[in-house]
Amino acid sequence: MANAAPDPIVGIDLGTTNSLVAVCDAAGPRVLPDAEGHALLPSVVRFLEGAPPVVGREARATAVAHAADTVHSAKRFMGRGFAESAGHAAGLPYRVVEGPRGLAAFDVGGAAVTPQEVAAHVLRALKANAERVLGVSVRRAVVTVPAYFDDAQRQATRDAARLAGLDAVRIVNEPTAAALAYGIGASRARRGTMETIAVYDFGGGTFDVSILQLVPGGPDDGEFFQVLSTAGDTRLGGDDLDEAIIALLVGEVRARFGEALEFPPAARQALRTFAERAKIALSERLDATLEVDLGGGRVHRRTLARAEFESLAAPFVARTVECCRRAMRDAGNPEVDRVVLVGGSTRIPAVREAVRACFGREPYAALDPDQVVALGAAVQASVLSGGRRDLLLVDVVPLSLGIETVGGAVAKLVMRNASIPTRATEMFSTSVDGQVNVSIHVLQGERELAADCRSIARFDLCGIPPMPAGIPQVEVEFLVDENGVLGVTAAERRSGRRASVQVVPTYGLTAEDVDRMEAESFAHAREDMRAHRVIDLCANARLDLHWIADALGRVRAELEAGYVAELDASMARLAGFIEAAGRDLRAVDPDAFHRAKEDLDRLSVRVHEVAIARSLRGVGTGGQGAGSPAVPPAAGDAR
Ligand code: ADP
Ligand code: MG
Repeated sequence: MANAAPDPIVGIDLGTTNSLVAVCDAAGPRVLPDAEGHALLPSVVRFLEGAPPVVGREARATAVAHAADTVHSAKRFMGRGFAESAGHAAGLPYRVVEGPRGLAAFDVGGAAVTPQEVAAHVLRALKANAERVLGVSVRRAVVTVPAYFDDAQRQATRDAARLAGLDAVRIVNEPTAAALAYGIGASRARRGTMETIAVYDFGGGTFDVSILQLVPGGPDDGEFFQVLSTAGDTRLGGDDLDEAIIALLVGEVRARFGEALEFPPAARQALRTFAERAKIALSERLDATLEVDLGGGRVHRRTLARAEFESLAAPFVARTVECCRRAMRDAGNPEVDRVVLVGGSTRIPAVREAVRACFGREPYAALDPDQVVALGAAVQASVLSGGRRDLLLVDVVPLSLGIETVGGAVAKLVMRNASIPTRATEMFSTSVDGQVNVSIHVLQGERELAADCRSIARFDLCGIPPMPAGIPQVEVEFLVDENGVLGVTAAERRSGRRASVQVVPTYGLTAEDVDRMEAESFAHAREDMRAHRVIDLCANARLDLHWIADALGRVRAELEAGYVAELDASMARLAGFIEAAGRDLRAVDPDAFHRAKEDLDRLSVRVHEVAIARSLRGVGTGGQGAGSPAVPPAAGDAR
């Protein structure tokens, strides 16, 4: 990326399991991926005798084979005394020893290494990565720590940064960073109000919940987050879910191939990898395949259903909910205004459901839960360096928001400059008979065609019962809340089917982008209007042709041949316009198209009358189409 600030401040999430680096520029915060495109750097360091250590992905991949020299979860020991760390040290494959000043250290690669040194290796890798992406040297960072970290632990984190050649210009609480990433506290509309935020962080090895309060009029005349309470469990995380799957598998394998079966390090590593992969797959799908190959044709393969995984996970999820209750009690049971999800394990649908049920609110999940802390640290960094994204953080929607409708047009639901919070709903329907899925494509911009707008999200509403085109009633709701977070929900009325998505529309968008998109919409206003009219005409003409063909099929014999010929010709003319539009939208004259449609409308009155009269005469008046309300504009594509 060119044009990076000469001396940028980056945001760093120094995690127990994974670490990330992010920056915030005019386009908002973004994570800086490594050379292979990975956003997450495993917080794992393997020490070698007489050679520099291996950091990250590679160190994690070989962790089991080199267990004694590979340090993971070093964060648990940051700034901790050796004596008080005994609990953490039990069961770890590397040796925890007493280091300088009675602090915990590790005996690895033939030397004593402090947790700060381990963290410094991780930070150095992140720094190098940021420098590679930004093309400038990086010397300053905002680094996050858990809210419960004491002064010694915070100081140890600063020391780690210094060892890595970084000045930790500010140490920020992880839950505060997560709130900042969602723009909580940035809205002027909320200034002067107290807001309570619950941050639920379910990571790889630890669980934390924090109750924060936004106190108006803090330092910098900005807002100020105060930690009301924290609760958690330093021995509870996604790793436990992996272990539960492994235990299930090992039990089955032993029952099948012999109770005495041993699992050498390579097999254990493979098991762990497979278990985690299956767990992650189950966040998206309803089942996953597990396989253990012991060699010699001894293969154990089974399917793990989501429901089965959920019952394995249930006791762990219940413990997190217990912590939430405790934190809420300690905070004096305040009314919670916002719930923010942090940590990779919050991608698990059952976890989200538990959080929703516990706090009685839909949690914020628009941002990637394992990036949200780093993104927030970057937001804090940009505030410190004076580069606030003022224009896009004010209390209006900077660009219109809508969805793609059939034929590639845009239906705008929320107009540019609408003040937030704002809500809009519109009814849509299907465009094809028997359509059971509707894909909703959420767009941002001022142009009339989807292709000219910015795509910000997509999701599918599935499982609509098959009905004729135009009959399902799909209500689409847009809700932009106080913090500028957009929630889009689509619900089919008859079946009650729903689907939704959350997104922060201003991320990735600069003030210049907004100006450019606005200017383009003026420049193309006329041709855009024409194209939009042609698209709408196509959708309506298709439905007309469908109904007329249907009526004609039933009563053709009762109509005089001359009329039928005239009707056929008129239908062919209209179909010709639809075809032409399919070839080139902009080449079709909407006025001529409109006239052809009106001609057919007039001409088809008779065939409809005859068809209705016939169905009234007929037995069992099953007229499913007759009397239906005006067909709403058709929503996004079938398939
Ligand atoms: P930490 O804060 O401890 O560094 P992260 O927030 O990076 O940890 O979370 C890592 C954990 O999230 C791992 O246990 C990983 O398996 C889990 N995880 C990541 N993605 C998913 C997913 N899609 N479904 C379930 N678990 C996931
Ligand atoms: Mg974390």
